[in-house]
Amino acid sequence: MSVQTITTIILFCWAPFMVLLERLYPYRKGLPFFRDGWWLDFVWYTVIQSYFLGILIFQYILAPLKEALGGADFGPLSHWPIWALVLLFLVTHDFYIYWFHRLQHENKLVWRLHEAHHSVTEVDWLAGSRSHILEIIINQTIEFAPIILLLDNKTALIVVPIKALLDAMWGMWIHSNVDVHSGKLQYIINGPEMHLWHHSNHQEVFFCNYSTKFAFWDWIFGTGFLPGLNPFKHSILKPEKYGLPYEYPRGYFEQHVFSVYRFDVKRWESKEWVKKHLDWKKPILQAFGKENATDVAAPPNPHTAK
Ligand SMILES: [Zn+2]
Ligand SMILES: [Zn+2]
Repeated sequence: MSVQTITTIILFCWAPFMVLLERLYPYRKGLPFFRDGWWLDFVWYTVIQSYFLGILIFQYILAPLKEALGGADFGPLSHWPIWALVLLFLVTHDFYIYWFHRLQHENKLVWRLHEAHHSVTEVDWLAGSRSHILEIIINQTIEFAPIILLLDNKTALIVVPIKALLDAMWGMWIHSNVDVHSGKLQYIINGPEMHLWHHSNHQEVFFCNYSTKFAFWDWIFGTGFLPGLNPFKHSILKPEKYGLPYEYPRGYFEQHVFSVYRFDVKRWESKEWVKKHLDWKKPILQAFGKENATDVAAPPNPHTAK
């Protein structure tokens, strides 16, 4: 069995495990499985966008680069043990992503590539998948380039799926609606405790908790925030609002247009044919007897979202 097959199986088990944890230990009670924007995140961001970007990044960006650098057998780090390679790429990529993520929050222009990710108002295990197409192209090219370029193809075929699996698992974990209290471990390993605060629509934490896998970047560089963990008190505090403090479109294409051209979201989404496009799954749900299930009917104002 190939490493890719094994990691795929693990991933398909991890997703329902996250859902189970969310049901058993919910951070916010009553969050529906098909929450607002679930279909958008699953169909467009998880399935379609990921599929095409995988081809673009690996076949059209990294493969020619590798060829130019020395071909399939070139790999100065290939003799390292797999665990050491995974650890190396895990830590260096995490360090990069901390600073790029921080830049996205501190720079108005790059924020346009990140606001889609923060537009989820009911954050759950799937919410991490919502990322602007350019954000993914930049981040994944920078993430996988050192792996492809420093390892021969045989070794890269082992390390890439392991790294991709860890990314996917960790992405689901930190966004999951799971009420976990890991205490001092939150100084080292990142989890939903800190990342759900990062997704909250509270001014005080807009510039906090940028870490993805290792929380220590936030504590080292002074951006860590977690009530209950020194120097903060009141561990019972949880964010009340999630999402963006301004109107944001609900459709995949509209979200990408909005990043380069600001338009009146309310006016656009009140058009009949736009409503129909946003509500594409309604006929399917009606066929299953869920006549009122719709994303569009949900309140569009993130200020009111819990
Ligand atoms: Zn962010
Ligand atoms: Zn996130």
